[in-house]
Amino acid sequence: SKESGKNNYQVFNQAMKTGSLQKLKMESELRRALQNGEFELYYQPQMEVSSGKIVGMEALIRWMHPTRGIVPPREFIPVAEESGLIVPIGEWVIMEACRQNKKWQDEQLLHVPVSVNLSVRQFLQPSLKEKIANMLEITGLAPEYLDLEITESMTMDVDFATTNLLELKNLGVQISIDDFGTGYSSLSYLKKFPIDKLKIDYSFVRDIMSDPNDAAIVATIISMAHHLHLEVIAEGVETKEQLTFLDRNRCNHIQGYWFSPPVNSVQIEELLHSRRSE
Ligand code: C2E
Ligand code: CA
Ligand code: CA
Ligand code: CA
Repeated sequence: SKESGKNNYQVFNQAMKTGSLQKLKMESELRRALQNGEFELYYQPQMEVSSGKIVGMEALIRWMHPTRGIVPPREFIPVAEESGLIVPIGEWVIMEACRQNKKWQDEQLLHVPVSVNLSVRQFLQPSLKEKIANMLEITGLAPEYLDLEITESMTMDVDFATTNLLELKNLGVQISIDDFGTGYSSLSYLKKFPIDKLKIDYSFVRDIMSDPNDAAIVATIISMAHHLHLEVIAEGVETKEQLTFLDRNRCNHIQGYWFSPPVNSVQIEELLHSRRSE
């Protein structure tokens, strides 16, 4: 009827306004993307400052969209999170990163841990530990070559996080705190949690040369990490000046455009081959 037609229109109009139709559309596209293998992992190498050696790789997801080209994670991870699709997508990420890393090891190309980003939803899944154990088993990757990046927001419930992290840690994997300094401000958990590494957030690193406060924060995080016997890595390092500052402040590892942007696995292999023949 005319009346219900008008209602539908109003519902449609409202949904358009809140963006929920776009979200629904993206949700079904994401489902299709997972089925059709449209996701790809890019890898960004992490470098030891003193030696220039590659000491790790962070896996970063890309959506190779059939018409829109490469879609960056910030454009679809929030929808994947909200819909719960981040769980199967995140499982694909772990599996693929383990598979790729094992392949690089078997080919004698690289023997370093691969880091994957865990989402809150994944972290809250009771079956996460078994799933990861299973993926390590299937791919044959030794657990110490997988590093799980969590964020401070996942550690708000200290008891849950401690239990959960201990279980993951018992698998033999490594655990890093990503975007360190941007979240939950209590530092007391740092010594309680079984973590291996702090990743200093890009937002602090960005302005270390111009903002004395950021420089002080970064220097303090590095020193604190050393006191707690944690590894520390600075993210988003773009310039030689930033590198020099970090080196002077005894930050041993860096990740950022200065060394390499995230690139696909073929480009990583080219990089590794060219460094080998140097
Ligand atoms: P993140 O984990 O903090 O990843 C680092 C981001 O910084 C990456 O963006 C990387 O490309 C970018 N980056 C690296 N070096 C530099 C630099 O020197 N300068 C600047 N300006 N940026 C740099 P990307 O790949 O777009 O990823 C954005 C975020 O999306 C990630 O932030 C992470 O939170 C999320 N993400 C990426 N892949 C996954 C995934 O597989 N699962 C989940 N749950 N989240 C992911
Ligand atoms: Ca990360
Ligand atoms: Ca980060
Ligand atoms: Ca960040």
